[in-house]
Amino acid sequence: ASIRTTAVRDGDYWIINGTKQWITNGPICDFCTVVATTDPSKGLKGINFFLVEKGTPGFSYGQVINKLGCRGVVTGELVFDNCRIPAENWLGDDLEKGVEYLGEILDEIRIMTGAMALGIARAAYQEALEFARKRVAFGRPIGKYQLIRAKFADMATEMEAARLLIYRAAWMLDQGMNCRKEAIMAKVFATEVCQKVVDEATRIYGANGFALEYAPQRHFRDARFLLYGGGTHEVLRDYLGRLLIGRL
Ligand SMILES: Cc1cc2nc3c(=O)[nH]c(=O)nc-3n(C[C@H](O)[C@H](O)[C@H](O)COP(=O)(O)OP(=O)(O)OC[C@H]3O[C@@H](n4cnc5c(N)ncnc54)[C@H](O)[C@@H]3O)c2cc1C
Repeated sequence: ASIRTTAVRDGDYWIINGTKQWITNGPICDFCTVVATTDPSKGLKGINFFLVEKGTPGFSYGQVINKLGCRGVVTGELVFDNCRIPAENWLGDDLEKGVEYLGEILDEIRIMTGAMALGIARAAYQEALEFARKRVAFGRPIGKYQLIRAKFADMATEMEAARLLIYRAAWMLDQGMNCRKEAIMAKVFATEVCQKVVDEATRIYGANGFALEYAPQRHFRDARFLLYGGGTHEVLRDYLGRLLIGRL
């Protein structure tokens, strides 16, 4: 657990100290759930969730981050400086179970991130499809060229595979089954497919794919967020590999 924000019990209160970066909607939140360590010596077993409300002394909004994509959502820092919250704002019933809750939340976030990836990919694909049908180059609609058709064949196939992985992981979650591995597979695969599709869409658009006036560049920029949200692919593939191989 590399979580450095701390929560220390003080009578009927918890005192929170630390800074959270890259928090989606953080700078406009009315309340937030904060992960902090209550016992750094316990590693992951020492982390817990706390509810902090806007206006609590010691809680403030930090820098708003100027992002490449997802510009319709505000993202920024949250600062906790001796922030004192009532004891009942600890979210849980066992101080050693926080890591379990985190795992379950991350399963949901990863499936959701996979679904977002598929949504962005589908939008980019659809726009590229319409463009390929109507854009005429060298006397023919570009959709008549085999290399362009092959791009659509590959994109559609990979998006379908991503969709099935996402649906299966979501179904398992709904059934209350353990879907840790499936959620990671769905997130990583769908996000990589999305990177490929948004890239192809900008190519199919030709120079217009480079123009801020058209949608493909926005999908291209927005898709980058998915590489980090829910965990980077280096970390997730390492974790998935560990789950598959088991303890050695
Ligand atoms: C738009 C946006 C919104 C976000 N919203 C939220 C939010 O609401 N809440 C929230 O908590 N977080 C949020 N995040 C943060 C996101 O979860 C982190 O960016 C992500 O977990 C990666 O952490 P990091 O940026 O510190 O990268 P680092 O951990 O510093 O990683 C840097 C590089 O090192 C690699 N790396 C790190 N550790 C390992 C390892 N063990 N093995 C191999 N490679 C490794 C990474 O893969 C990466 O390539 C958001 C990020 C973005 C971009």
